[in-house]
Amino acid sequence: MPTYSNSKLSTFENCPFQYKLHYLDKTEVEQEQTIELFLGDLVHQVLEKMHKDMKFKKRVSKAILLKFYKDIWDKDYSEDIRVVKEGLTAENYKKMGMKYISDYYDSYKKEDMTILGLETQDRITLPDGNSWHVRMDKLGCKGDTYFVCDYKTNAWMKTQEDADSDRQLAMYSIWVKDKFKDARKVILKWHMLAFNKEVTSERTPQQLETLQKEVMERIKEIQKAEKENNFPRKQSALCAYCAYKEHCPSFIHLAKIQDKPTEKFKKDDGVKLVDSYSEIKKKLSELQQNKEEFEGKLIEYAKQLGVDAVYGSNNVAKVKEGMKIVLPEEKEEIIAILKEKGLWDEVAMINFMRLQSHYFKGSLHKDIIDKIKTEKDWRISLSKRKDVEEGEE
Ligand code: SF4
Repeated sequence: MPTYSNSKLSTFENCPFQYKLHYLDKTEVEQEQTIELFLGDLVHQVLEKMHKDMKFKKRVSKAILLKFYKDIWDKDYSEDIRVVKEGLTAENYKKMGMKYISDYYDSYKKEDMTILGLETQDRITLPDGNSWHVRMDKLGCKGDTYFVCDYKTNAWMKTQEDADSDRQLAMYSIWVKDKFKDARKVILKWHMLAFNKEVTSERTPQQLETLQKEVMERIKEIQKAEKENNFPRKQSALCAYCAYKEHCPSFIHLAKIQDKPTEKFKKDDGVKLVDSYSEIKKKLSELQQNKEEFEGKLIEYAKQLGVDAVYGSNNVAKVKEGMKIVLPEEKEEIIAILKEKGLWDEVAMINFMRLQSHYFKGSLHKDIIDKIKTEKDWRISLSKRKDVEEGEE
């Protein structure tokens, strides 16, 4: 049975297409390393060393840990590690890391929990037979209370709400309860290193059961998508950080043109087509406005002259005054009366868009589905590019 993990599920939830590229196609991409990832990984290594040495009763001082940190930094840091945040340099991050380690050391050097595992990896078998990957930064206990700990170097503080709804560590507490039969309490603990604070959370057995069911449901959805080879793209703010953009039909063209000099960029067939199309749409909307303006003027003209036909060189415009009905804003009552009086079937129209949406969501009765056919269709929608300022090329 395949193994699932929190990141596998999160990737599918964020964008099924990215899930396919990453986990199924194993598409190779150049992963640009960011300074945040580099720092996070390094801090994890240092804290692992701290607890390992403590476990073996080896003297570990803050100075030794900081030297260990600096040595790895100097050995592994390279100029191609990306610093995105404006105004910051790698040196700022290096100092931040030292502060995280120093604060953590001061707070936990005398921690009296028994360390059971560091960077622990294992698997849980879910009731449906699938496996769940377990990877804990630190696992410890004090008597029958167990602690599943995670180090976070994020620049944002995890709230209690975030902690109480976190799936990753909660799933690990299922593993702890399974492996350690004396575990009366499992405390999930996030060390928020940038803030020198910890956030903790606990789950009741009912909550864990519900969580496990939700996880199995999500796995079923993934397996269904795999069976049907149905992995729609889900565009969101996360696309900005997606490593698979060059393989994603929503961004392949952008990747092709974005580094071209303006001259070549303007000559790209796609760019020319979209520019012309948006120009036409703009003109059409202006013409529509013009049309409405002229219709108003024609009506005024016909009213002033007291005529119902105005003549041009080759055409005649008939201007007729008539009446139209205006329905009340709240339509329930009139709909009920129309139904009661047997008029509804005659005047109601099928809401095509809603029907189509129900069809593709699979929420229609089989008898209705049997009456509907599908065929390939193309639609174009035009929107402003979010990655360029107004007037920028
Ligand atoms: S760029 Fe966005 S839509 Fe495309 S695969 Fe990545 S996350 Fe999905």
